[in-house]
Amino acid sequence: MAQGWSFAGQRVEFRAALPAGKLVVLAPPAKVVLHEVKLSQEGEWSVPVAGQPLKVVRKRKGLTPVIEVFAPGGTMLPPADRHVAPRPAPAGSLCPANQAPAIAACARCGTFICQACAGADLTHCASCFGTLHEAAQKNAAAMAYFAPVIVFGIMGGLLGGVFGALAGGAAVAIAKRTENKVVKIGAAVGLYALAAILWIVVAVLLRG
Ligand SMILES: [Zn+2]
Ligand SMILES: [Zn+2]
Repeated sequence: MAQGWSFAGQRVEFRAALPAGKLVVLAPPAKVVLHEVKLSQEGEWSVPVAGQPLKVVRKRKGLTPVIEVFAPGGTMLPPADRHVAPRPAPAGSLCPANQAPAIAACARCGTFICQACAGADLTHCASCFGTLHEAAQKNAAAMAYFAPVIVFGIMGGLLGGVFGALAGGAAVAIAKRTENKVVKIGAAVGLYALAAILWIVVAVLLRG
C-alpha cells in the first residue's frame, strides 16, 4: 500500500529510491509526476503541492524513520492510503459559515467550504479534517506497539517474525481501542511474551 497524502487535489507519495527513497507529487487521476524530491534518512524539505509549499520532515521515531507532512499553516496532514480528491462545488455556491465563494464540497460530509474555513488539506471541512487528523494521530501512536516485531524477526527469523507479527497486530488493535495506557502496555507485554513462548515451543517441535 502506498504511503501518501492528499492536498487540494494533488497527491504526495513515498516511493523506493536510492539512497533512502523519494517523494513524488502526482496529479490524479492520471498520476502524472509533477515533482520529485530525493530524501535522506533524516531531514526537512519543502515540496510544492497544488501551488503551495508543504513542509516534509523525516525523523527517527522508535526503530524506524517516519515521514510527516505539514500544510502551510503548520498543521500535520493525515496520511491516506488512497487519494482523496476535493468534491467540486457547483458554480456560484457559497460556504454556510462565511457566505464566501466555495472552493469545494467537503469530501466526507459534503458541506461547501471556502478557502478560509476549509481544513488544512483544502479537501475537507475543518470539522471532518479534525476527525481525520485525530484518527491518524491515534493510529500512529498505536503503531508504536508493532515495533518489537522487528526484534522478533531478527532473533527468530521467519517463524519468529510470524509469531511476532500476530502478537503485534493484536497489540496494535487493542491500543487503538482503549485509552488506558496500562491496558495497552500490559496487553502488548502479555501478547509478545505469549508469542515468544509459542515460537520456542514450535521451534523445538520442528527440530524434534
Ligand atoms: Zn466535512
Ligand atoms: Zn467559509
